[in-house]
Amino acid sequence: MKKRILVTGGAGFIGANLVRRLLSEENHVICVDNLYTGRMENIEELLSNPEFEFINHNIIEPLYIDNLDEIYNLACPASPPHYQKSPTYTTKTCILGILNMLELANKNHATIMQFSTSEVYGSPLVHPQVETYRGNVNPIGIRACYDEGKRCAETLCFDYNREFGTQIKVIRIFNTYGPMMDPKDGRVVSNLIIQALKGEDITLYGDGTQTRSFCYVDDLVEGIIRMMNSTQDFLGPVNLGNPQEFTINELKDLILEMIDTNSKVVYKDLPKDDPLQRKPDITIAKKVLNGWEPKIPLREGLKKTIEYFKGII
Ligand code: UDP
Repeated sequence: MKKRILVTGGAGFIGANLVRRLLSEENHVICVDNLYTGRMENIEELLSNPEFEFINHNIIEPLYIDNLDEIYNLACPASPPHYQKSPTYTTKTCILGILNMLELANKNHATIMQFSTSEVYGSPLVHPQVETYRGNVNPIGIRACYDEGKRCAETLCFDYNREFGTQIKVIRIFNTYGPMMDPKDGRVVSNLIIQALKGEDITLYGDGTQTRSFCYVDDLVEGIIRMMNSTQDFLGPVNLGNPQEFTINELKDLILEMIDTNSKVVYKDLPKDDPLQRKPDITIAKKVLNGWEPKIPLREGLKKTIEYFKGII
């Protein structure tokens, strides 16, 4: 059955990948984005599709749209340099944004999915991170605008559910990469690939022994769709990420093996509050989302991502 679906942040990296999947399943998709970090290039080719609408709007302000079946709330700057550029704007986007979207979900009796993050675990003292872990966030640090903003957004979702019966779903996304990432995102995967392609210095922060687990975007989108289609009583939060953990040095070695380059590696200071390790426990996702787990190995995903960046830089 064709659904009318709102995707906030639909011109961003994950949003644009999600929008394509939803359109491929014969839905009508309304993409709301104020292009703060989202990019018109990501959705330009969709503008001629009658099942796709684009609205340039900031979700800090209320929004009125009728007959929605589902809302996916992704809108928020998500990479550390972007969300730290105006931290108060980031907090407003997280909190006023989800409040406006929860109100819209209520008016439409729509299901709303909040795109939360592994950042709610802060610099985790429990490894791998399970959904019951309450996190280790510095509330006055430079990452707090995003971490605490996303934590409060989760609180609002669950309170709307308890107080008003809003149909919610909450996912916690771990590091994701793939085509349609912003070359200026400032994240490790995009930075290292672009630096290697351009022969520029490869910037490693700290000593490169910190870890992350990288999920290819198609695997993530599959998890998102399964979560939206899960039984109404399953609200989450559920971790969606790839449990294979790599040091940043290992990621750098792999990228340098895959790209022929003269780049040299330079080590820079580790940014403040940068988590030292991160890896999702995906036991719940596997169980509740019909055996969902990431399928695309890092090498294969990086190959597709390198091809994408080669085509746009
Ligand atoms: N990082 C790095 N070089 C870069 C960008 C990031 O070494 O050019 C490090 C960063 O300090 C962090 C890890 O790579 O430890 C992942 O950073 P990213 O910004 O991709 O994501 P997040 O910190 O939000 O997980």
